Amino acid sequence: MIYFKDGKFLEEDEVHVSVNDRGYAFGDGVYEVIKIYDGALYTAQEHLERLIESAEKIRMAMPYTIEELGEIIQKLQTENEITMGHIYLQVTRGVAPRVHQFPESIQPVVVGYAVENERPMHYLQQGAAMKSVEDVRWLRCDIKSLNLLGNVMAKQEAFDHGCQEALFVRNGLVREGSSSNVFGIKDGVLYTHPANNFILNGITRRVVLQLAKNLNIPVEEKEFTLPQALEMDEFFYTSTNAEITPAVTIDQQPIGQGVPGPLTRKLQVAFDAQIPMLVASGNVEERESNGPAS
Ligand code: PMP
Repeated sequence: MIYFKDGKFLEEDEVHVSVNDRGYAFGDGVYEVIKIYDGALYTAQEHLERLIESAEKIRMAMPYTIEELGEIIQKLQTENEITMGHIYLQVTRGVAPRVHQFPESIQPVVVGYAVENERPMHYLQQGAAMKSVEDVRWLRCDIKSLNLLGNVMAKQEAFDHGCQEALFVRNGLVREGSSSNVFGIKDGVLYTHPANNFILNGITRRVVLQLAKNLNIPVEEKEFTLPQALEMDEFFYTSTNAEITPAVTIDQQPIGQGVPGPLTRKLQVAFDAQIPMLVASGNVEERESNGPAS
């Protein structure tokens, strides 16, 4: 596996990160996960733009232009010959003795690598279980920062209860998943949390909103409560790796009929159809023929 670090493409045993890296000490950095479908990067531009925005929000200088970052992630894909998987790219504020305030004139550290993984076909087809968890994270969830302890704790709590994803609830309102955005469908209307400081504005979330528009599904970007979520006809969560995963239970209570719903299916089919690499490779057929009838 070839890694990227600070301008060089290296073998794993050649990549070294300092214990004084502020990412290690403080989680002082930002990151992105960019999907690779059949050898091609998907929505890379949007991810890199968000990385730059996250860096600006934490007042961190980005050492590369968006074009240079694009070249780096492309090279990680080709060098590692990844067909299905993702690129992980992170930027930390740099290396300095541990003091909280920003040290002067330090260089950000950029690390990237590629991961081979399959699409989560089982959950895409059968749906997944969610567990509600109190959202105790900070109030800048719009920043894709390395500080993920709140997310990690929530995901573990969900796993401990046999669920695949946590559903964050803050002040009684459903916010997002531990590593995903969430959507509910009630009487044909698609509901999701507005893009503000309480959630990360997911790239997949934006794709889904566009698909809903194309399909003439009415959308309401507004908050809803956990009891309202439980009363939805359909529910799903979205992320770069989870794509559009139907949530068939929340806190062990079935949503709708307790199976992936028809509008969720429609959005999944539309999602596959807008990925040219998937259409070309026939992956779409596989999903449609193997999935339960909608
Ligand atoms: N919210 C959180 C907290 C996440 O970690 C993620 C995954 N990065 C998302 C939402 C979904 O974002 P995206 O669709 O860009 O992967």
